[in-house]
Amino acid sequence: VDRQQEFVLRTIEERDVRFVRLWFTDVVGSLKSVALAPAEVEGAFEEGLGFDGSSIEGLSRIYESDMLLQPDPSTFQILPWRGQVEPTSRMFCDILTPDGTPSPADSRQVLKRQLAQAADMGFTCYTHPEVEFYLLESDELDAAGNPIPVDHGGYFDHVTGGVAQDFRRKAVTMLEAVGISVEFSHHENGPGQNEIDLRYADALQTADNIMTFRTVVKEVALQQGIYATFMPKPFSEHAGSGMHTHFSLFEGDTNAFFEAGNEYQLSQTARQFIAGILHHAPEFTAITNQFVNSYKRLWGGGEAPSHLAWGHNNRSALVRVPLYKPNKGQSARIEYRGIDSAANPYLAYSVLLGAGLKGIQEGYELPEAAEDDVWSLSNAERRALGHNPLPGSLHDAIRVMEDSELVAEVLGEQVFDSFLRNKRDEWSAYRQNVSPFEINRYLGIL
Ligand code: GLN
Ligand code: MG
Ligand code: MG
Ligand code: MG
Repeated sequence: VDRQQEFVLRTIEERDVRFVRLWFTDVVGSLKSVALAPAEVEGAFEEGLGFDGSSIEGLSRIYESDMLLQPDPSTFQILPWRGQVEPTSRMFCDILTPDGTPSPADSRQVLKRQLAQAADMGFTCYTHPEVEFYLLESDELDAAGNPIPVDHGGYFDHVTGGVAQDFRRKAVTMLEAVGISVEFSHHENGPGQNEIDLRYADALQTADNIMTFRTVVKEVALQQGIYATFMPKPFSEHAGSGMHTHFSLFEGDTNAFFEAGNEYQLSQTARQFIAGILHHAPEFTAITNQFVNSYKRLWGGGEAPSHLAWGHNNRSALVRVPLYKPNKGQSARIEYRGIDSAANPYLAYSVLLGAGLKGIQEGYELPEAAEDDVWSLSNAERRALGHNPLPGSLHDAIRVMEDSELVAEVLGEQVFDSFLRNKRDEWSAYRQNVSPFEINRYLGIL
């Protein structure tokens, strides 16, 4: 038993913890949880906890189903929404095969591997997500078949006496109580739409934080008798929910993206990182935008990016270089605007980082920054400027990903195959479904 494990065991004792939940994530980013009696925790640290991996999406095949959960003691937290008396706690887990080696099918392991590669190149990767989501009256629909938002506010609106204000206050307090620092929270463009921005942390911690964040937001909403959804595009006529993520690479204490005097104060490393992301974005879009519905956001307006472009403070670009003060070189970073709030954060950050690092390794050239609003250009103008489209549907995205050496390398064969299998199934279920759109559009005239 090491020191962190000892600390956990002691806290369980002192706080009279009643349940210890072991958390992990399946290939499409659903949180999985098993509750452990406190007496079992020491054994789980030593030998792992056995479970049936073949019942978890993308984890293992039926003939090699035994897997082990190894709790990560550095992620131990009391869960405040379960109360303070005989509290419930949780730890994130790594997944091991029965011989004790890390499972190649574990998303968290995929990200750890990618971060180790960054470390080999001398980099630590920091991330800061802006998570958008909708607050609805419930998970039920109105007579016309639409979800019912809790208010009709818009961007930065202060809705007097609104449910959303109360909600944000409770959610932020709850997030801080589980050790997640929040930088901003505000009403977003759509009715009932909100955004909460988490303080930067290393990429693994951010991915863990996002999994916790989704649970906290859903729990707080339930406590208030409302419903929170991270669905990428719940309303045809309102903005979708993105999860813009800011990335920076540090070499020791130095921000490797900053170079005073350069264009936008971007270092060569930053330029190559952006070039890598732009070059490979179509290949990894199936990961950052993994659902049929994700493409309704990407192609449905509402400030979502649909073409390859980067720009300084340009909100139509896929990659944006935010403004920062000249004496704030340490805050140099780039923002990826393509990813949505329903992505598996471990896999999405792995492919984004993998693409950026590839750009650095291969010395990719960065095209010119987009000065214009990319949405208002004609197709011919966009083509001339190299602003090629992102995949138009989950089907297109799968087809591009299938041929990607980079994505296969970053995910590893097992995750690559099981992810694609899952997504092909989703696409064929969608393709054979006759939707209300078709009935409304065709039945009366055909
Ligand atoms: N909701 C938009 C998106 O889907 C972003 C809007 C914004 O943050 N300005 O990306
Ligand atoms: Mg924002
Ligand atoms: Mg926003
Ligand atoms: Mg943003």
